Amino acid sequence: MSLKVYIDGKLYPKEEAKISVFDHCFLYGDGVFEGIRAYGGKLFRLREHLDRLWASAQAIWMNIPIDPDEMDRAINETVAANDFSDAYIRVLVSRGPGDLGLDPRKCTKPSVVIIAASIELYPEELYRSGLDIVTAATRRNAPDSLAPKIKSCNYLNNILAKIDGIQAGVIEVIMLNQEGNVAECSGDNIFVVKNGEILTPPESAGILKGITRQVVFEIAADLGIALREQDLTLNDVYAADEVFLSGTAAEIIGVVKVDGRMIRDGKPGPVTEQCLRRFRALTCSES
Ligand code: PMP
Repeated sequence: MSLKVYIDGKLYPKEEAKISVFDHCFLYGDGVFEGIRAYGGKLFRLREHLDRLWASAQAIWMNIPIDPDEMDRAINETVAANDFSDAYIRVLVSRGPGDLGLDPRKCTKPSVVIIAASIELYPEELYRSGLDIVTAATRRNAPDSLAPKIKSCNYLNNILAKIDGIQAGVIEVIMLNQEGNVAECSGDNIFVVKNGEILTPPESAGILKGITRQVVFEIAADLGIALREQDLTLNDVYAADEVFLSGTAAEIIGVVKVDGRMIRDGKPGPVTEQCLRRFRALTCSES
């Protein structure tokens, strides 16, 4: 069965799902998006993702042409039409077709695109062994240039960091901010565990406020583990008892090596494992 892609109110077979080359999302990366997971056919934390999508659109001066309830229905309809129960869903709102200049006022109308695909997780083996990551040479965008909290379709900053990782032979990279503190990873948020406490960079470090990151806050509170937002240096990461990442696709995954330095005994730690177990239980119970 061919994948069905939603574009502006209609479902199209994948081969016929097309957007104009004059769309400013294609020409300039002018658009916003979300990556959402469905577990057992049910969308996990959909409201939070929609809130962030609307906040991103607001930040780039774009009106999403449908309301959140209609978007909710469209996403569910797309997941159902593709007969997926576990899926990764990409929701994208492009600026729409315009001319070759930058002016977004020349774009006729934003387009809503929803693509459901089978999930691309890290291999299960990596959840047991943990990730080996490095620090990217590419720094995270300065928040006063292009704020990382806007989930825009202009992901070149993250792609350049990802390339740094590919060249180093690793799957994910730490991105530092303009001050040299740890911000986040190319597609995940980062946490360290030190002396029984979970620490993570604050929003002011220039990060995307991950929906999964927020779930980690809830899990920590449930488990009675202290969690604090704090600026982190690379040394804080190297000297941590545990390091883990969070993201919609990654869920929660341990990191066991950073820039060639082994984190503690080189195995995902107990706090990481507890958080992952809780997270997976939540994805089942909310489905
Ligand atoms: N940071 C970046 C740069 C991301 O692209 C993502 C999403 N993949 C995350 C963090 C994690 O956010 P979420 O938990 O909402 O997926």
